[in-house]
Amino acid sequence: MLKQIVFSLALLATLGVFTYSAFRYIRFFRFTKADFRIKDFGRRFGVMFRVAIGQTRIFRFPFAGLLHALVFWGFCVILFGSFEMLIDGLFATEKSLGFLGLIYDVIIGGGDVFALTIAIAILVFLSRRVFLHIKRFEGIEMKHISHLDANIALSLIFLLMISLQGMNIAYLQHQHMVNKAVIGVYPVSSLFTGWIAGWDLASVNILYQTCWWAHILMIFLFVNILPYSKHFHVFMSVPNVFLSRLEPLGKLTNMDEITREVRLMLDPDTAFAGPAEDAHIDRFGVKDAEDVSWKSYFDSLACTECGRCTSVCPANITGKKLSPRKIMMDLRARMKEKGPLMVKNGKSFSDQKSLIRDYISEEELWSCTTCNACSRECPININQPTLILEMRRYLVMEEGSAPGQIKAMFGYIENNGAPWQFSQGDRMLWAKEIEVPVIADLFARGEKPEFLYWVGCSGAFDDRYRKVSRAFAGILNHLKVSYAVLGTEETCSGDPARRAGNEMLYQMQALQNIELFRKYGISKILTTCPHCYNIFKNEYPDLGGHYEVVNYVHFIDDMIDRGSLLTNKAVFGNTRLTYHDPCYLGRANEIYKEPRKILNSLSPTFTEMQRNRSSALCCGGGGAQMFKETEPGKKEIYMERTRDVLMTDAEVVATACPFCMNMITDGIKYKNKQNEVRNMDIAEMIAVSLNL
Ligand code: SF4
Ligand code: SF4
Repeated sequence: MLKQIVFSLALLATLGVFTYSAFRYIRFFRFTKADFRIKDFGRRFGVMFRVAIGQTRIFRFPFAGLLHALVFWGFCVILFGSFEMLIDGLFATEKSLGFLGLIYDVIIGGGDVFALTIAIAILVFLSRRVFLHIKRFEGIEMKHISHLDANIALSLIFLLMISLQGMNIAYLQHQHMVNKAVIGVYPVSSLFTGWIAGWDLASVNILYQTCWWAHILMIFLFVNILPYSKHFHVFMSVPNVFLSRLEPLGKLTNMDEITREVRLMLDPDTAFAGPAEDAHIDRFGVKDAEDVSWKSYFDSLACTECGRCTSVCPANITGKKLSPRKIMMDLRARMKEKGPLMVKNGKSFSDQKSLIRDYISEEELWSCTTCNACSRECPININQPTLILEMRRYLVMEEGSAPGQIKAMFGYIENNGAPWQFSQGDRMLWAKEIEVPVIADLFARGEKPEFLYWVGCSGAFDDRYRKVSRAFAGILNHLKVSYAVLGTEETCSGDPARRAGNEMLYQMQALQNIELFRKYGISKILTTCPHCYNIFKNEYPDLGGHYEVVNYVHFIDDMIDRGSLLTNKAVFGNTRLTYHDPCYLGRANEIYKEPRKILNSLSPTFTEMQRNRSSALCCGGGGAQMFKETEPGKKEIYMERTRDVLMTDAEVVATACPFCMNMITDGIKYKNKQNEVRNMDIAEMIAVSLNL
């Protein structure tokens, strides 16, 4: 009876303190902003089972991933035994779930094996942290307290497993000594009963009770430490995965409040049925904790501080200040600081500090290439670039603060419809020497093409990339595809403005383009630029622009598959090829297979770079970096990527993006390797193989 009373009081205290602690964080959700609506439950459960329960992302770091997965799965199994202990403690029973028979045996047996496995894994984790100084666990955001927190939690888990195993050993020996049947199966503990074979019954009983109480009380303690520790992810990560953003990684959320303004600017008579007229917008973008969406705050609470994101961040790798893990930790810390003040003084309270500048510098924000390597790597589907972009939106739209070259880029888009100082009238100069149909001419003749070939600003103005536009137009002509370009009517898709935080300018561009497409009845768009591809495919639909958007890599691959495009293998022969995955084709839109198939059709000698497909390193040009000086660091991102290229010993590095071409070509030049390795676009390679 005494045991029951003590146990019940301990359980009550645990639940009470935990509820209080969890509430201290949960109450801050009311200060956050709305985000996506939670629907698609089938897909959500699928993601949760794959990513959280199946631990698929964690295996991207194979060794640590396997150990972590074993710990996670082991915990899930052992939880059953903990639940049984709760029942036994409350009702003074023993092995109360033993009536489940075979199921019980399997689960308890599994838990017994996992207890040992987890203990070993924890020892490895602790040794790595204490002795090996893994780079992933370092960084300015990783203070002494972060390491201490991790080590305490790991030690506690180790002791939990030891007490569980001790309890099992004592139970087996006790049953043996009193000649009673054993309930459950204990494949590991049964190997160690010999250790206490000489003990008397009372001592065995004491060992059992000590381990039983130590185990359950440590669970209670652990539960109450978690909300104050990075290990809060034990509770938060599975729900966070369930609440993942389900859209492609390359898609940014639309700012509906801006849409309404822009529509009114473009057409004051518009009867736009967008957000309610009285929708009150406190602030564009994110300046402080109260500006973030509930999802970003959830992400920050779920972050395990594992550093996988930072370890693959091209900005961080090349010595820039940005660390995506720090962005999440900073948001969590800022909410912890400001949340109680808002509870006391209201949401509008100002403590003269903010997330931007007091926690996260502008330099960090302008270092991001929006490559999405971080969000792709995060084992619990946290989306860091969304928050970074929200902060850029604040800087640009509320403060007019951006690097000078970015501001100039905005001006060029506004004035010339391109991110550089080129005249719109020169948009067709790239096509001087070839036959390229212009849509307005076709319309004048009463004709309508099947495809719009969207050339893009680089395709029209960049000297090197114009050759790619010519190559692709040549392929379209060769295939007799029904297509046309917009010619001098084409203007910027708005991508660089949007990635630099200028949502207003992006939407101006996008809505004008959508109107132009409507005028010509365009329903199918072919693009060479992955950034334009991404924005048309994923982001224009939010503004009412729905098209069948086809990337040229897909298109060429399809033509080869159908037998319409017969490449000449002899041209490239045994040329050693490699391929750089553009972030906005790969991670953003999952196009990995097609470019490789095309290259394999050109030469059998294809070598992957060490970092490839979803692990490919960014070239450094995305996220509007192409239009500004890079932030200070130890080296340029494109130099790091060029090193990957050179390590393959390839003679041709194939790219499929104007920014990647620019960056990698520069890298090859700086390394003085132009005579050894050429940078060619996939369209150029096909054109060469066709002798166009
Ligand atoms: S999107 Fe790329 S550059 Fe930006 S934080 Fe993530 S990994 Fe770093
Ligand atoms: S954001 Fe994700 S990958 Fe980065 S430290 Fe947190 S949990 Fe790890």
